[in-house]
Amino acid sequence: MQPFYRSYVVSIFVSLAISIGLQMILPWPFGLVAAIAIFMLYPLILRNGTLKRMGGGMGSSTGGGFLGNGIRYVCLVCSNKFNGILCPRCGSKMKKAEF
Ligand SMILES: [Zn+2]
Repeated sequence: MQPFYRSYVVSIFVSLAISIGLQMILPWPFGLVAAIAIFMLYPLILRNGTLKRMGGGMGSSTGGGFLGNGIRYVCLVCSNKFNGILCPRCGSKMKKAEF
């Protein structure tokens, strides 16, 4: 919950900065409306982005863990389980992946 809270506070400051910038760029009513819209929408956008990033991170980390564990192969000739290109027992390249 802590990083979420921090990102929310940061998002408020960023949206505040953006809205101040918009006040300068846009004429009064449009600037205010855009500022309010961004102020309300920005945390949602950021949270969605954070969730997506978290999901991506989780996905990549599980992928990394999966790769780190290594795909084990079973030799089709001597059914030796090994972890490489060639079967260390019989030198065969014939293998199937085992998860
Ligand atoms: Zn083999």
